[in-house]
Amino acid sequence: MKPPYDGQVAVVTGGSSGIGLATVRLLLEQGATVALCARGEGRLRDVTAVLQRDHGAERVLARAFSVLDADAVNGFAAEVQQAFGRCDLLVNNAGQGRVSTFADTDDQAWREEYELKLFSQINPTRAFLPMLREARGAIVAVNSLLAYQPEPHMVCTASARAGVQNLLKSLSIELAPEVRVNSILLGLIGSGQWTRRFAAREDQSVSREDWYADLARKKGIPLGRLGDPAEAAAAIAFLGSRAASYITGAQLEVSGGLSRHI
Ligand code: NDP
Repeated sequence: MKPPYDGQVAVVTGGSSGIGLATVRLLLEQGATVALCARGEGRLRDVTAVLQRDHGAERVLARAFSVLDADAVNGFAAEVQQAFGRCDLLVNNAGQGRVSTFADTDDQAWREEYELKLFSQINPTRAFLPMLREARGAIVAVNSLLAYQPEPHMVCTASARAGVQNLLKSLSIELAPEVRVNSILLGLIGSGQWTRRFAAREDQSVSREDWYADLARKKGIPLGRLGDPAEAAAAIAFLGSRAASYITGAQLEVSGGLSRHI
């Protein structure tokens, strides 16, 4: 049997770390050719060298830029078009959360957060849309459960994420029937921000395993642990694949059961 992404081209923003990197790896394993981006050149270069060694240099294209730079995103799309001639899947994953309450979020922070959350979807979607339409492809957005279940200590991130879900629903209608648009809603995944918070823990003698287990207990995660980036990647790969051909405008929670709404 052919692998699910055989002959397809996928683009993953924020592909040099955590969930984005796990997604790049999985899509390569499943037969895709992958283009990825991130801002930091050093980590991107290191990661790309390993990916090209494992999967072939011709199947991995990596460029360093911010997804908030529309010209750079457009240039990246032109390169993908030239190198691979198509794009079947766009994974809008790049970004990070902001921890702040209403009292300590100033206007600049609100603007930055809204720009990051919305334009990390808008810029790549606009740039890759002609190729996605032609391939009858898919967009998968990486978002957070905070969109539906806000937490006061992440006030601007949560409200911006709700706006993103609203935008994605509109896109799923406007871009149908050529392009499917779906999202995953994350709870706590043991990558990025949690790795950084673990590194900055008060008691440096606590092991990663114990710190994560305590966090899962405090947050009340029914499955009793944080998610692994590979588990988020599996959901992304499913929604982007032909196996999900009748799914659009949907959101899939990857949270170990953390959501309280039905
Ligand atoms: P990581 O920090 O491990 O990875 C983030 C990736 O995005 C890196 O490759 C980073 O590289 C890149 N990136 C960040 N900002 C930009 C930008 N402006 N332009 C291009 N690339 C960028 O984070 P995670 O894997 O944990 O998170 C992935 C996504 O999931 C993020 O959008 C995050 O907000 C979201 N999320 C994660 C949760 C979790 O529990 N882990 C929970 C909810 C949502 P570089 O810094 O070099 O640019």
